[in-house]
Amino acid sequence: SIMPATLSAISNGARAGILFKGGVHLENLAHVSAIAFDKTGTLTKGKPVVTDVFIDNKFTEKEIVQLTASIESHSNHPLAKAIVRYAEQKYNEPLTQPESIQDNSGWGVTAKINNTEWRIGKAAFVGEKEAIAFQNKIYEQISNEGKTAVFVKKDTEIIALIALKDVVREESKEAIDRLKQNGIYTVMITGDSEKTANAISKESHVDEYIAECLPEKKVASVKELKEKYGIVAMVGDGINDAPALATANVGIAMGEGTDVALETADVVLMKNDLPRIAEAIQLSKRMNRIIK
Ligand code: ADP
Ligand code: MG
Repeated sequence: SIMPATLSAISNGARAGILFKGGVHLENLAHVSAIAFDKTGTLTKGKPVVTDVFIDNKFTEKEIVQLTASIESHSNHPLAKAIVRYAEQKYNEPLTQPESIQDNSGWGVTAKINNTEWRIGKAAFVGEKEAIAFQNKIYEQISNEGKTAVFVKKDTEIIALIALKDVVREESKEAIDRLKQNGIYTVMITGDSEKTANAISKESHVDEYIAECLPEKKVASVKELKEKYGIVAMVGDGINDAPALATANVGIAMGEGTDVALETADVVLMKNDLPRIAEAIQLSKRMNRIIK
């Protein structure tokens, strides 16, 4: 049976915009010593915009942008949506229908158009060495600015780099600072590149970051944090975060996240309100004191 103190804490939480799917999660939250955060859509707004397009001069920017948008229009990734929006705003012309298309979660997309193979995605997806060499190390430069690089590869040659920037939520710093003041260790986990992750981790004040994480590596990272720190929470919004949310002692989903994340999580932040996490921890500590 559920204790009156637990019930009252759950209802206080709900009033404050924090939904607990059971009393046990409130109890666990009181003992959390480290919290892992997904980057895109959690610490950042998850709505990246195209900032620069670097192209091989055999092509025009319009050709590249239209083609990339044609392929990305078949992906649900926030980067894909941003590229499609950019093409619409800049050219507003119909897109081409690829003959075949494959969305590789955590990497990018491949497509076939007129017997040409296209590969669009992160450096490791098109070839790290060539990516680094593209246009006098432009990749390094944009990554240092916290931007994400999407490469366009035609058959065997990289022909463009599209740079996108996603802004850190205004509340992220405050949320992280509050947790740190309460002695909680904060880590950002992302599929994005090392340099971009480094830049965003500085902007959001997290103690540590783990970059280049495929969904399986997000799970492995949460397991490692559990070994090191004990009780660990994970905050995320995407389908690719669901396994890590399930692995953490307390899985916390952003209220505007995907259905899978919301279903998997133990706690839901109804208004994406990250600073509420510190409040929820205090609430759970108070409750535990009453029960004991
Ligand atoms: P995150 O953990 O930051 O939310 P993901 O795991 O979804 O990122 O993806 C990791 C990386 O793979 C992205 O940063 C991006 O570089 C690349 N990527 C994934 N899907 C796409 C896509 N549809 N188009 C271009 N790049 C993609
Ligand atoms: Mg995300």
